[in-house]
Amino acid sequence: DAELEAEGDEELEARPPVVTVMGHVDHGKTRLLDAIRKSDVMAGEHGGITQHIGAYQVTHNHEGDDRKITFIDTPGHEAFTAMRARGAKVTDIAILVVAADDGVMPQTVEALNHAQAANVPIVVAVNKIDKEGANPEKVRGQLTEYGLVPEEYGGDTMFVEVSARQNLNIDELLEAVLLTADAALDMRANPNKDARGIAIEANLDKGRGAVATVLVQSGTLRVGDTIVAGTAHGRVRAMFDDDGSALTEAGPSRPVQVLGLSNVPRAGDTFFVTADERTARQIAEKREAADRNAALAKRRKRISLEDFDQAVADGKIDTLNLILKGDVSGAVEALEDALLKIDVGEGVQLRVIHRGVGAITQNDVNLATVDSAVIIGFNVKPAERVAELADREGVDMRFYSVIYSAIDDIEMALKGMLKPEYEEFQLGTAEVREVFRSSKFGNIAGSIVRSGIIRRNTKARISRDGKIIGDNLTVETLKRFKDDATEVRTDFECGIGLGSYNDINEGDIIETFEMREKPRV
Ligand code: GDP
Repeated sequence: DAELEAEGDEELEARPPVVTVMGHVDHGKTRLLDAIRKSDVMAGEHGGITQHIGAYQVTHNHEGDDRKITFIDTPGHEAFTAMRARGAKVTDIAILVVAADDGVMPQTVEALNHAQAANVPIVVAVNKIDKEGANPEKVRGQLTEYGLVPEEYGGDTMFVEVSARQNLNIDELLEAVLLTADAALDMRANPNKDARGIAIEANLDKGRGAVATVLVQSGTLRVGDTIVAGTAHGRVRAMFDDDGSALTEAGPSRPVQVLGLSNVPRAGDTFFVTADERTARQIAEKREAADRNAALAKRRKRISLEDFDQAVADGKIDTLNLILKGDVSGAVEALEDALLKIDVGEGVQLRVIHRGVGAITQNDVNLATVDSAVIIGFNVKPAERVAELADREGVDMRFYSVIYSAIDDIEMALKGMLKPEYEEFQLGTAEVREVFRSSKFGNIAGSIVRSGIIRRNTKARISRDGKIIGDNLTVETLKRFKDDATEVRTDFECGIGLGSYNDINEGDIIETFEMREKPRV
């Protein structure tokens, strides 16, 4: 597959890390992104007017080297999760912004869960340290409880105290990003090949047509290249930087605004260069069809509580992922506590990947999609249009107002009891009197029905001297004299054919049955 083409080590060159800023509302994400952008040692060099294109690059001086860092400048984790839900990995490092006066808040935890679920290393920016009442030490303590242990405490997470308002320690923050990236990641890509990457933002402009910001992840994108981005395609007519200057090429980790696409790609769509425009169009059309199929497949893939036990039994899954949302934090905690006390079966585990207070959001559904989680709502409802999204994505949402009911359902699912159980229901038995060989139907057992009914197209097994000699068979042929019959009752004679199964002797017993739902007790 061309998309997975191996890159020779000798071709790999260092590339800038790509960073997303996440955190609770009002903790200063937007302000920090502004401060970082202004800190750029190269700022003002081109004299361009900065514009928001969805991402920007800054240069930071690290031990005498000018190193670039790319920032996705849509603050918050919605974009992050939406892209991840589409299978795109954009972010190398997440900066978790926590206001030093407020401390850890619900969306701090949410952001942290998202980054951890995506295996993205986190650098903590303890912001607003200029404020009276700032307590950075408390933030360190709080985050330690969530597994983000500061280096000062012997952990491996870097905490930097900053003030976005006073531009304090912004350089230190960038330094921490680079150190974390260098320590945790292999940030190299081959610039000497056709570009591929991800669309991070796009819109339709009256004058310019489709305008898309793409992040080049490997290779080099050039004006004149033909690309496919999601289901959009076209020749790159022009490219712009975030300061509005025109570019002719862009290498790995570089975000650029691209003109010339047929339509607007979606955030998280991958793009790559094709040989010519015809190929680009064909791929775009194929992707459109594939999108439709993927939507269908996703529905089939859904993990609901009902499916879970079957998946466990089949050895396909061993972890039930849950997202808990409740009206008050006490209820969510109580629910989680009780859930974690469930005595799950061997080899099976229950993992709460995210918990929060408030309505079920689009973001919860996106996370559930990525991690195949079931959403449990306690005294909450889905926000507007979220139920639709969940349905489309095949995400199972369950609502409860009594903790015990939730626990009961999950416990049953974990023990394989939520799903209706089926049991064998015997329809009838027949004794073989004589075996006829038919070239058309294989062996036909001339039999007499001893009990119940023998019915065509039902499951059958055959025994000899009390031992089962053939199981999982089907009554494929059923004859009454020369005629086909659908069923034959007790004391009547009939001819039974079991498809390609031919080991039938006089005296054998054929038993037929069907699976019926077992009544719950
Ligand atoms: P966001 O919702 O996380 O993007 O937060 P904003 O960047 O919009 O900041 C929220 C508020 O906090 C604004 O009024 C900012 O001016 C203020 N703010 C942000 N950073 C700082 C800081 O370092 N110190 C102080 N004192 N205020 C800040």
